[in-house]
Amino acid sequence: MAVVVLHSVPPIRVLLQRCWQRLELGRWPAACGAQSPLWGLAPAVQSPVCLPEPAAGGEGPGFLGGVLWMAAPKKRRSIEVNRCRRRNPSKLIAVKRNIDVCPECGNLKLKHVLCGYCYAKVKAETQQIRKEIGKKEGGPFNAPTVETVVLYDGEKPTEKDEGKRIIERARKRPSWFIQN
Ligand SMILES: [Zn+2]
Repeated sequence: MAVVVLHSVPPIRVLLQRCWQRLELGRWPAACGAQSPLWGLAPAVQSPVCLPEPAAGGEGPGFLGGVLWMAAPKKRRSIEVNRCRRRNPSKLIAVKRNIDVCPECGNLKLKHVLCGYCYAKVKAETQQIRKEIGKKEGGPFNAPTVETVVLYDGEKPTEKDEGKRIIERARKRPSWFIQN
């Protein structure tokens, strides 16, 4: 136990000395809690809050263990600075200049890719042709190893098509499906 003696305040020093003498003589009044023999005078030191507290029993997080120190902005960025950063031309979506008109259907498409509308039409017609093949042969594994010819309404097989697999479709030939 240590007693801090404040030289700048003589009355407090005198009071502390008197208390210490009474403690040593065992003449402390019982009304102040003298029932316990371990009771004694303890200095009360007012310290700043940021001082580290001693860990109880050596367990638990230390002074810096439970605190995550992160970088924080020191100054507020103005709205002009923020908008200049957000609307910088390098951050905006580039304007596309490779858009073309499909020569078949007239829809807009990228220059270097197939037209999506036309491709959907081809895909649907291919599905129908596959259905015809499935009806005729009962599955994809019975296909003969010969060339396939698709005939539409009003078309007759020529002598070139002899021996080839002939698939018939009950509709007019689409303009994009050229007959060989
Ligand atoms: Zn098209």
